[in-house]
Amino acid sequence: MSSEIKGKVIVITGASSGLGEAAARLLSAKGARIVLGARRAERIESLAKELIAQGGEAIAVTTDVVSREEMDALVNAAVTKFGRIDVLINNAGLMPNSPLEMLKVEDWDRMIDVNLRGVLYGIASVLPHMKAQKSGHIINVSSVSGHKVSPGTAVYAATKHGVRIISEGLRQEVKPYNIRTTIVSPGAVATELPDSITEADIAASVKEIYKTAIPAESFARVVAFAIEQPEEVDINEILFRPTAQEY
Ligand code: NDP
Repeated sequence: MSSEIKGKVIVITGASSGLGEAAARLLSAKGARIVLGARRAERIESLAKELIAQGGEAIAVTTDVVSREEMDALVNAAVTKFGRIDVLINNAGLMPNSPLEMLKVEDWDRMIDVNLRGVLYGIASVLPHMKAQKSGHIINVSSVSGHKVSPGTAVYAATKHGVRIISEGLRQEVKPYNIRTTIVSPGAVATELPDSITEADIAASVKEIYKTAIPAESFARVVAFAIEQPEEVDINEILFRPTAQEY
């Protein structure tokens, strides 16, 4: 695997908006072959068309990361179309925060399913290919909430702490296969993420924090930095925030 982004086959989950979409745009501009996964088919299909119109190579595969079969189909589509998979960006996630006492158990389940189970399914889908290739790069998206917790964020923070633990365990295990692992933990980035919050107080405090949110291209540049390192350099973790963010 070369250190160049050009030509790499990069699968991105949650590519229909926010961080995933921004990463797709920048990595495509740098010459990567992009495989877009998300549930909103029309969004990823029009993004794929746009990337192709700009001279890139891209396909869109409608994917719910909570389905093991659909996650496998996303990765298999990459291998069928482009012959290999170099990078998985395990990015799909949601953040419907609320205090535990409100018992929004369905939201807890969705966060565990998408933020944790979805990340594990992504790993399960790419590992056999990357082991066989003896190369690959798995980038898992955590959060500042993967480093700390505050009232209303317990379940989200638990899933994002979990992502970091899974990534570090994975890092140690995949040494024999020449696979790199990167945890990216963003602070407030302007995306649709806060839209999933239904609890008014939490929505108001998140809105306050997101007043200083930075553009999604910040994430795209971080991911590109990790990917374009020489093959023997493994960027294991990056935490970044808006300069103005205290939390
Ligand atoms: P968005 O809400 O803009 O994007 C979330 C993406 O996840 C969408 O593309 C959505 O696509 C996808 N998604 C959600 N559920 C599923 C599912 N079941 N299967 C497949 N895709 C799914 O938010 P962000 O871009 O901000 O979020 C991306 C990641 O970044 C998340 O993991 C989030 O936790 C993390 N993060 C974001 C921060 C921020 O400030 N923005 C800060 C720290 C971390 P669709 O609905 O089409 O399926």
